[in-house]
Amino acid sequence: MSLEEIKTRIAKAEIAAGREPGAVTLIAVSKVQPNERVAVVLEQGQRCFGENRVQEASGKWPDFMQQYDGVDLHLIGPLQTNKARQAMELCHAIHSVDRPKLAKTLARLAQELGQCPDLFIQVNTGEEEQKAGVMPGQADDFIAECRALDLPVKGLMCIPPAEEEPSLHFALLAKIAARNGLKGLSMGMSSDFETAIAQGATHVRVGSAIFGTRG
Ligand SMILES: *Cc1c(COP(=O)(O)O)cnc(C)c1O
Repeated sequence: MSLEEIKTRIAKAEIAAGREPGAVTLIAVSKVQPNERVAVVLEQGQRCFGENRVQEASGKWPDFMQQYDGVDLHLIGPLQTNKARQAMELCHAIHSVDRPKLAKTLARLAQELGQCPDLFIQVNTGEEEQKAGVMPGQADDFIAECRALDLPVKGLMCIPPAEEEPSLHFALLAKIAARNGLKGLSMGMSSDFETAIAQGATHVRVGSAIFGTRG
């Protein structure tokens, strides 16, 4: 599917949900994609991209950022504390803040660097053992903890369990965000971004629908 088609579907979903046009940011998830494919999407004017590994992102994005103005890079995958500085220097947003140790590291580095990317707290809405994210029952406390550290928390992020109805998870994430006064909702991927937009997504993370399947 082309970038244009995805953007059209996002615009239609915004209208259907009574959302403002442009309320939803498309993050084109370029992880594991060959540089040629990423360059095609950059040439088409897309500037907001998502990567899930710091190492991969730092290998390919500095060059693209030299070539193209206004690239907005979002880290959407798990972040180890020893990669936090690199992530903060490279990325404009981090969607995977999920534990106190990482929050404290980000806060210390924010002081040191004098800047901090927009942060999203990842919530493990399906309470899956193998998945990252704070448990729903601990989300309120963790959000408060991040705010007490002066971190720029913009919203919440989730990845619903593969085999479950995503809308239940999107609704749960929206509820936790609303009761904490958070506006950002990073939810929805290739297979369910329209559902996510209907439930208030502000950021959808779409990979394979734009770039094709990952090899
Ligand atoms: C890979 C990935 C996506 C994109 O998934 P698609 O199904 O290819 O759209 C979104 N979010 C996260 C966290 C990912 O790792």
